[in-house]
This record gives sequence, structure tokens and C-alpha cells, in this order.
Amino acid sequence: MLEFYYSTMQGGKSTALLQRRHNLISIGKRVLVLTSSLDDRYGVGKVTSRMGPQCEAQLFTHATVFDSSLPLNGIDEVFIDEAQFLRAEQVHQIHANLTSGLRIRVSCFGLRTDFRGKPFEGAATLLALADTLHEISTLCRCGAKATLNQRIDVRGSPVREGAVLEIGGDSRYRPVCPHCFYS
Ligand SMILES: [Zn+2]
Repeated sequence: MLEFYYSTMQGGKSTALLQRRHNLISIGKRVLVLTSSLDDRYGVGKVTSRMGPQCEAQLFTHATVFDSSLPLNGIDEVFIDEAQFLRAEQVHQIHANLTSGLRIRVSCFGLRTDFRGKPFEGAATLLALADTLHEISTLCRCGAKATLNQRIDVRGSPVREGAVLEIGGDSRYRPVCPHCFYS
């Protein structure tokens, strides 16, 4: 079973991951958590929510192969945070080797689009292949549903150009609805 939980920046996906992990551990399940080496907002190798709790995570890079070489012995479920940074090929490996081959449930958590509104490779492939999609929805400042991530400068003005990966993390983005994104 491959699941994809998607949200905007600050949409609560890490909080959802940590809550779901807590629920599983409390009934005796063993969980392997992975996160992207590209996301070092809170220190490498951790999943942290702004609410406080955190957990250790193993890092994946673009070179990680998702197969039985991962430490999966005794693991009931795999969580992957920042899953938008997976390569398409890695999502296919997860789908074929982990969820189909080893029958391990894998829950991926991530963004759908970057600050330009373009789909991340990992997210696009997860949207295509996941057995179940879960939207973790959040609100734009205008009250409409936020579906996009707007990059802002230090004064809060929208930024439309630049590298996809930007240092500065959450404070440089806000979740917005399409109307506010394009206006
Ligand atoms: Zn809006």
C-alpha cells in the first residue's frame, strides 16, 4: 500500500507524520522514518513539526535505492517526509520493491508544487502511483483553500524567480489560494 499525504508549506504534514507514527508505536508497530538530505531547516536527520515533537530520521538522497538494502527488518511501515524531493525512479522503486514486492506499507508526505506552481518530480509520480491520496488542507490568508506555495522576500512581497531550493525555510513561504497566487 502506497499512500501520499500532500499539503502546502506550513500545511501540517510533518505534524501528521509524527502523529501517525505515535499512533503506530503506541500499538507496538515498528516504523522507519526517512527524510530528504536536501531539507536541513531543523538539523539534518530529523522530522520536526512547529508544534514541538520530533523524531530521528534516516536521510535519503537522489542516490538512495529503495529496495531490500534498506534497514527494513521487523519494520511494519515506512514514512517518507519531504517526499517531493524523491526522483520519479525512486517512487517507482518504492512502488515495485517495497509496497508490491515486500508488501510494506509506505506513507509519503510532501508538497505537490514548487513556488512557481510547477509539480515536483516526486510528487507528480506519487500522485500518479499512490493507492491512496490524502489532502491535508490549510487556508490562505483570504480564507479560501490554499493549494500553492508562494515564496516571499523579507518584506513579505511575492518572489517569482530563483532556485527551486532556497535557504531560509518556512519563513520564506506562505500557503496561498490560486487567486492570491496569480494576482
Ligand atoms: Zn487567497
